[in-house]
Amino acid sequence: MTDLYDVTIIGAGTTGLYAAFYCGMRDLKTKVIEYQPQTGGKVSFFYPEKAIYDVGGFFGVTGEDLVAGVEEQAVSVQPEFVTGEKIESIVTNTDGTFLLKSSGGQKHYSKSVLIASGLGTFEMQPLAVEGSKAYEERIHYTIQNLSQYEGKRAVVISDSRVGIDWALALEKVAKDVHLINHGSEFKAVYEQDIEILEQSSVTVHKETKVERVEGRGGQLENVVISNGKKLNVDDILVYEGLKIDKSLYGEWGLTTDKGRLPVQNDMGTDRPGIFAAGDAVVYPHKTMLIASGFSEAMTAVNGIKKYLDPKAKSQVYSTVIYKHAEK
Ligand SMILES: Cc1cc2nc3c(=O)[nH]c(=O)nc-3n(C[C@H](O)[C@H](O)[C@H](O)COP(=O)(O)OP(=O)(O)OC[C@H]3O[C@@H](n4cnc5c(N)ncnc54)[C@H](O)[C@@H]3O)c2cc1C
Repeated sequence: MTDLYDVTIIGAGTTGLYAAFYCGMRDLKTKVIEYQPQTGGKVSFFYPEKAIYDVGGFFGVTGEDLVAGVEEQAVSVQPEFVTGEKIESIVTNTDGTFLLKSSGGQKHYSKSVLIASGLGTFEMQPLAVEGSKAYEERIHYTIQNLSQYEGKRAVVISDSRVGIDWALALEKVAKDVHLINHGSEFKAVYEQDIEILEQSSVTVHKETKVERVEGRGGQLENVVISNGKKLNVDDILVYEGLKIDKSLYGEWGLTTDKGRLPVQNDMGTDRPGIFAAGDAVVYPHKTMLIASGFSEAMTAVNGIKKYLDPKAKSQVYSTVIYKHAEK
């Protein structure tokens, strides 16, 4: 069967992209399937413009540049990329190969599967206040291009670390930035995040609700908050949580622990031939970070190589002997 791949990677976040590259290192015919129209997973979705400081060798790299780098690495070994498809089921055939089916009915055939699909697929919770429908074009759910906010007045609505990250990134270019939190604290933050926020020029409004958005002649003008105060605004950025569909792992016949996948030392799940890496997995002392996803992807691909060919070397010791495909 010509469309039978050695490995099918579900998810093209940073973990899936790096895994695709590493499959090239191990001479594995690889397909990557991603639900979103773009690659990069959470990094592209939430913080393409944020500086990242904890990936070894790339101190202060922006999310966008990091994704571009991993994507370049992946593309160099020419995997097959499919975007806009959500994998809904993984069936083991009688010969031990897998049939993966997408929500649109597409079928994919593979000798092994690498799950790099994080916490599952996600969609943003839309801002649902009076007037928001009329100004949808000025309401954003991700920062794709920081320069579009240059000299603008921005209001960020969020009670989590994502909102703090966005507000701090916007502060560098926008005229003024307000951060509205309907609670009294921010969720999933470290003390350091709060300290940086307090030292910034961002105006923070806690225990504050957005009552409505208003404008004139189709032009967004104000965000009206609970004390009746009007914040002049050009752009609104909203992170009020995600609609996450993490029910799939259980449906795929895998053991789960709070929606994530417990794995063995080689990153194998409890279904032979199905491996996992990145935010999707859980084990004692697991860190949910980009660099740990890279390392786990490498281990998982080596595990897959051994699963497909028990006589294969357990790892590649040096990349010097490895030839990149022509760019
Ligand atoms: C605000 C914020 C800031 C952060 N800052 C840092 C930082 O500074 N440094 C750091 O190291 N980490 C940081 N992290 C954590 C880091 O983003 C994650 O650890 C990393 O993105 C996980 O990558 P992943 O590829 O494993 O998963 P994801 O990025 O979640 O990618 C999974 C991909 O799989 C796709 N998918 C899911 N289900 C399916 C399906 N059924 N079919 C097809 N595709 C599917 C999804 O659409 C997604 O694109 C931060 C996270 C957040 C939220």
